[in-house]
Amino acid sequence: MQNLSTIPLAVPNIGPEDIESVNVAMTDGWVSSVGPDVPAFEQAVASASGTSSAVAVASGTAALMIALRALGIGRGDLVLCPTYTFIATANAITAAGADPIFVDIDPATWAIDVNHAEQLITRLVAAGLPKPRAMIVVYPMGNPIDMTDVRVLAGRHGLRIVADAAAAIGSTFDDRPIGGLADATTFSFNGNKTITTGGGGAIVGEDYVVAAARSLATTGRLGVNYDHDRPAFNERMTNIEAALGRSQIARLESFIAAKARIRARHDHFALKHGLQVFPRHRLAQRGDWFSGVVLRPETDIRALVSVLNARGIGARLFWKPMHLQDGYAPLLRWLAHAGLSTKGAYAVADGLWQRVLPLPCSTNITDRQIDKVHAVLADALAENNSSLANVAAIA
Ligand SMILES: *Cc1c(COP(=O)(O)O)cnc(C)c1O
Repeated sequence: MQNLSTIPLAVPNIGPEDIESVNVAMTDGWVSSVGPDVPAFEQAVASASGTSSAVAVASGTAALMIALRALGIGRGDLVLCPTYTFIATANAITAAGADPIFVDIDPATWAIDVNHAEQLITRLVAAGLPKPRAMIVVYPMGNPIDMTDVRVLAGRHGLRIVADAAAAIGSTFDDRPIGGLADATTFSFNGNKTITTGGGGAIVGEDYVVAAARSLATTGRLGVNYDHDRPAFNERMTNIEAALGRSQIARLESFIAAKARIRARHDHFALKHGLQVFPRHRLAQRGDWFSGVVLRPETDIRALVSVLNARGIGARLFWKPMHLQDGYAPLLRWLAHAGLSTKGAYAVADGLWQRVLPLPCSTNITDRQIDKVHAVLADALAENNSSLANVAAIA
């Protein structure tokens, strides 16, 4: 249970300009999926990504699903994705009509392990199962990764690449925006992301991919009459959401600076306490959606989180890997039956996920609040250690 003065983990930063922007959209009557803010927001997303176009959709999940469909992925296809991700990544594959093949992560980056992906492809083919047609790469905590090995693997096996950049809007790799690193790149503007539209997402990529995605998100409609050229979806972002997105993305530089400042402080705490920090490639910049600490394997994270919550710090366990999710157990059983057992295949994710502790990182958090987070955490860690010592003494 959280007390009233809890410092939240990640909440939206809504200012007067955001309220004014939504107000104008409402007052002008542009409340639905048509209106001036949608194309303006799309243009801002494209320019933050270094692409010429973008399409705004209803959620990050919809962005991934539509990106896959725009690349021709659908029923009967297999799509590789990391097991360590938010479940939206897997659900989007399922929603596209395909099935996910979970891949372990690289311990150094927390991103998809390209070698494991290749092993799984070989084993799928050996079992007489279809070869995956695409791969979703997640940028962990909003930090882009070096895509060289991903591209080599994709080239060798004819895979389309979708980058789940849900939390990476505005980030760069090697000083370049990230929209050109994959066949399609998707963002989420859910309430806990760096900028928010309430709920929303976007797809960037080559113009032909964005055009296909736009059609798929808008019922495949051609012009104003009821002509539709493909079975499609209604996953458009509304103009009210885009109005919020437009004012939020105008504040992106200040949010990115805040995330960097927060990360620097959490990293400093971690190093002072002999803990690991979250990974970030040396060429990745302006990401750092979530930062925090990696606990020692022996720390009881559940006990620690309840102590933090009771003392007013918003903390919780982070992503539970996909291969441990009940919803995907039937798929894993079916694959095992068909010749691809993945038992014991996810050692890195298994060893990591209960050690990842994101710390409060809302862009409006104050330095004094960060001081409090660190003071409470330092005490809680010390208590956790001594209670572990007691358990060991009793045993
Ligand atoms: C937030 C997020 C998504 C998308 O979430 P929505 O809630 O559907 O907008 C997808 N993947 C990752 C890794 C995320 O963090």
